[in-house]
Amino acid sequence: MEITLLGTSSMVPTEERNHSGALLHYKEENILIDCGEGTQRQIRKAGLSAMKITKILITHWHGDHILGLPGLFLTLGSQNYSKTIEIYGPLGSNEYIQRIMQAFIPRELVKYTVQEVVSGIFFENTEFFLEAIPLQHGIHCLGYRFAEKDRRRVDMKALKKIAVKEGPHLKELQLGHDIVYQGKKIKAKDYTTMIPGKKISIVTDTLYCDAAIRIAKDADLLFCESTFLGDLKEQAIERKHMTATQAATIAKKAKVKKLVLIHFSQRYKDLRPFSKEARKTFSSVIIGKDLDTFTL
Ligand SMILES: [Zn+2]
Ligand SMILES: [Zn+2]
Repeated sequence: MEITLLGTSSMVPTEERNHSGALLHYKEENILIDCGEGTQRQIRKAGLSAMKITKILITHWHGDHILGLPGLFLTLGSQNYSKTIEIYGPLGSNEYIQRIMQAFIPRELVKYTVQEVVSGIFFENTEFFLEAIPLQHGIHCLGYRFAEKDRRRVDMKALKKIAVKEGPHLKELQLGHDIVYQGKKIKAKDYTTMIPGKKISIVTDTLYCDAAIRIAKDADLLFCESTFLGDLKEQAIERKHMTATQAATIAKKAKVKKLVLIHFSQRYKDLRPFSKEARKTFSSVIIGKDLDTFTL
């Protein structure tokens, strides 16, 4: 599982920071979360390929999170992208996507589906699920969680000790069922262990709220907006954003393993004060930089 930050700026991009976007890679999936202006160039700079995108998750329909969509669709269309791209977003996404297609895409260049998400698990397969929760940003805005499912691992070493060989009989153990092997009863709980699935949560843009804590719960990696430093807390509230301290409080309350701060106001050149402020509340903090990749 790998996730690359494509942009860490808030409303106005800077020389160092692009508009919002992140690309999550997991097995066959390449999930783009938000697509701010310039996202497709960022994908190229990161050495990744837009042609591999399978799903797009949109947090909300503010320009800094979606203005890269028309260009991305044009690129995919002109390069004969052959998959059907699955787009997920908050209420209203259907109409917005239709408008983009009508305004900018000359013909039906890209096959796509749009699913509007209100809350809860909206995609699930045998390996992972995707979940959303409404945040507080003045318009429909979703926090997302990518969660790999827990896996049961068969302890071959222990099985070999009691002379159980590899073979199709282990499939049942893998499923958590007890088996009888050459007359011996083998209990799944004694010879398998559960490997917890990894979780990545993304919280942007929002006021500090309980929903943000819920979607971040127990995440291995939480990407959380911290548009402002604490001295501009009033301004953060007014613009429906958060401070570094608030992001750190969410990380602490949600018991995440690592917090990555993103979505910084253009006014900040030096981001070190963000980690300094956040570390007073939560110790495992990283300042997210464009094109940073995190591997789990
Ligand atoms: Zn934003
Ligand atoms: Zn916004």
